[in-house]
Amino acid sequence: NHMKPEKLAQCLERVMSLTESDAASRGHRIILDMKDESVYVNMDRDKIVQVLINLIRNAFEAMSDPGEVHMDMLKEGDKVLITVSDTGSGIPESSLSSIFNPFFTTKEEGTGLGLALCQKIVQDHNGKITVQSELGTGSTFTLCLPVESNE
Ligand code: ADP
Ligand code: MG
Repeated sequence: NHMKPEKLAQCLERVMSLTESDAASRGHRIILDMKDESVYVNMDRDKIVQVLINLIRNAFEAMSDPGEVHMDMLKEGDKVLITVSDTGSGIPESSLSSIFNPFFTTKEEGTGLGLALCQKIVQDHNGKITVQSELGTGSTFTLCLPVESNE
C-alpha cells in the first residue's frame, strides 16, 4: 500500500512528461490547465498516473487527425475534479454503459482493460470516474477525488 498525501499538481506534471513523446509521435498536443496548484490528495501516485495515462492514450487513439487533448484540474469544495477531454470520435450512447466493463473494446488490437482498471483504481481511492461524450464531437472523462488538504 503506497497511499500517502501527494501534491496533485506534481502528479499531473509527471503525467505530462510521460505522455509528451507519445503525443509528439502522433502529432497531437496535450494541454494542462491547473486552477488549484496546492491541492493534496491521499493517493498511490503511480496508480493515479497510470489512470491518467490510460485516459490520455484513449483520447489520442480517438482522434484520427492531429488534435488537442486538454487535462484540467479544479477544486470543488472537498473534492478535486480532473478532466481529460478530446475532440475525437466520441462514444455511441449504446456503448456508454459498457466501456468500463473488462474486455469491452472497439479496437482491432484493444484489450478493453484500460478503463476497467482505471475504474478499479479510482474506486480504491474513494473516487469516481464518469464520462460525457458526443458522437463526432469528442469525449470528456472526469475523475473526482477527495481532497486531503489544501497546503
Ligand atoms: P481499449 O483502449 O483497449 O479498447 P479501454 O478500456 O481503454 O480499452 O476502452 C474501451 C473502449 O472505450 C474503447 O475500445 C473505445 O471504444 C471506448 N473509448 C474509451 N475512451 C475513448 C475516447 N476517449 N474516445 C472514444 N472512445 C473511447
Ligand atoms: Mg485503452
